[in-house]
Amino acid sequence: MVQEKQIIKIVLPREKHWVGDGFYVSSIFSMHSEDNKHISPFLLLDHAAPKFFPPTDQKLGVGEHPHRGFETVTMAIKGEVEHRDSSGGGGKISTGGVQWMTAGSGVVHDEFHSRDFAEKGGEFEMVQLWVNLPAKHKMTKPRYQSLDKKDFPIVRLQDGTTKVKIIAGNFGSSFSPAETFTKINIYEVEGHQNSEVKLNFDDGTNTLILQLAGSSFIGDQHLDKGDLGIFDRNGVSINLKTAEDSKILILNGEPIEEPLEAYGPFVMNTREELMDAFRDFQEGNMGSLAE
Ligand code: MN
Repeated sequence: MVQEKQIIKIVLPREKHWVGDGFYVSSIFSMHSEDNKHISPFLLLDHAAPKFFPPTDQKLGVGEHPHRGFETVTMAIKGEVEHRDSSGGGGKISTGGVQWMTAGSGVVHDEFHSRDFAEKGGEFEMVQLWVNLPAKHKMTKPRYQSLDKKDFPIVRLQDGTTKVKIIAGNFGSSFSPAETFTKINIYEVEGHQNSEVKLNFDDGTNTLILQLAGSSFIGDQHLDKGDLGIFDRNGVSINLKTAEDSKILILNGEPIEEPLEAYGPFVMNTREELMDAFRDFQEGNMGSLAE
């Protein structure tokens, strides 16, 4: 067995586009790309890089829209977002917090900058990740996990300054409180220049590394700010070394090897299920938001 996982591709930052009027994002990866086999169980990742928003009394974000068949995981890296969904889930997440929404059988929701944040204005940075559900859980009851910064364990490495925040799964003997349907690890690593981080993952799992800030090395491969490193499934370890002060997002998970039919806000296994999703949404079976 190969010990060290190898980077098979580095994807450079893509052009930004607006999602609603509140999120100016780069789509870092998507299930619709040729790399999809190396991305599963993750489906999509949008990064709203740090951007200053002046104070406003307007509601910035995305209005009512549906989802079915997967989970949306929103990480507030800086700033505050508010969310409401038709299953009664909702709340506000602030810097360092995460909202983990299981759309399952279907919800309608909206996503906005919080009123407090919008009124004060400030720097805003956010990541939204879509996590697939295995076929047997696609129609699970919707669920909403609201996790504050203080809920996540932070492991400080031996050098005393490098920090690993465990957003999902475990790092050594420290576990995230986030509940997941399949085996997933998500870490946010923060370290000064020349920090060394050794990661251990199961053989056969997919791993992705997004350099949010700074730059780093994996072996002799260099990741600049905004770059995504996609790893081969073989191997069990990764040695990461920062070249500058860095913030890095690491995603690892057991691939879900099932057919994928996705369109817009729905991710199912067959075309028929996709049609059902559209019909159920149009007929109001995914609920609506209370005014
Ligand atoms: Mn959404």
